Amino acid sequence: MEIETRAIHAGRQVDPATGAVVPPLYLSTTFEREADGSYPHNYNYIRDRNPNRVMLEDCLCALEGGKVASAFASGSAATMSIFQALNPGDRVVVPHDAYSGTGTLLRSLMQPWGLKVAFADMTNLQEVKAAITSDTRLVWLETPSNPMLKITDIGAVTAIAHKVGALSVCDNTWATPVLQQPFALGCDLVVHSTTKYLGGHSDVLGGAIIAQKESEFFEKVLHIQHIGGAVPSPFDCWLILRGIATLPYRMKGHCENADKLARWLQQHRAIARVHYPGLSTHSGYAIASQQMSGFGGMLSVELKGGKEAAFAMAAHVKLFRRATSLGGVESLIEHRASIEGKNTRTPDSLLRLSVGLENAEDLIADCDRALKGNP
Ligand code: PLP
Repeated sequence: MEIETRAIHAGRQVDPATGAVVPPLYLSTTFEREADGSYPHNYNYIRDRNPNRVMLEDCLCALEGGKVASAFASGSAATMSIFQALNPGDRVVVPHDAYSGTGTLLRSLMQPWGLKVAFADMTNLQEVKAAITSDTRLVWLETPSNPMLKITDIGAVTAIAHKVGALSVCDNTWATPVLQQPFALGCDLVVHSTTKYLGGHSDVLGGAIIAQKESEFFEKVLHIQHIGGAVPSPFDCWLILRGIATLPYRMKGHCENADKLARWLQQHRAIARVHYPGLSTHSGYAIASQQMSGFGGMLSVELKGGKEAAFAMAAHVKLFRRATSLGGVESLIEHRASIEGKNTRTPDSLLRLSVGLENAEDLIADCDRALKGNP
């Protein structure tokens, strides 16, 4: 079955009790045992399993082509559980420009706990080889990267990681399984902030880990989640599953609009650089063309006038919302350096755009007006 069909049907069934086509919401925190002490429906307690969560996890497996999945309370909670499943003294290699929260989590929580962290430019395979040592247990990938839209060759970095027996983990939040399939390129685990494109409407927080196969490592991740309790609510799972139903069609619209806007911005005299992997001038264009079936809805621009011009553009848009996050139906614009904090490597002149599903010409007109500085 193709992804449009899986997005609508995987994990769902007509409710056997009522015939409801849309899955009911199971709010119960606890489930009854039989007289002999068994759990006939395999549900016991909400922190362990919940029917809405199981439906979402089955759907995520079907989308990514994975064997097992677990839904989390947030993308950050999912990320955290993976690093916690390692041992103090283990080493991980992480891209310089992974989501800034991933870097903060590693620096402020995992390094003091004993994890060794090496940051590398994942687009430079020599640098990756130099960073991966025999005690490296895990290599983290995020492509396209945040906010520079750098493209990592997933297959090549995974092969380097596997040579030393390290796991390859890909944060697939930006591309989504519609545009990029990390398991087909050899990855072991896929991570998502389902808060973004999978939820799709900026109204629910969630995360997920999908594993290519069952493993001791994934069992440990599940144990950490079960004991620590970083699980999503049934309603959050329900919302994310509902969002996923339209994901393939939303991604088509996001890609189309971002492509039009990137090309328009590229020729504007106030813009110094457009970072969008769908432009043939982008350094990752060739690899993105091979490993992605579309270039996504995210782009960044650097303004010739520096920080001041970037703030002026963000101040004058009317359709784009000045807000963090991404992947919703509405377009967002954000000055990343000022939100990423003191460790940021993001240029001050850069604005990140999450291109939504409004009409592309209206978005272009909004940027045109904002770049003229008109109120
Ligand atoms: N991964 C990526 C690529 C992100 O962009 C984000 C959030 O922006 C996260 C992970 C963290 O997700 P959450 O906000 O759901 O914790």
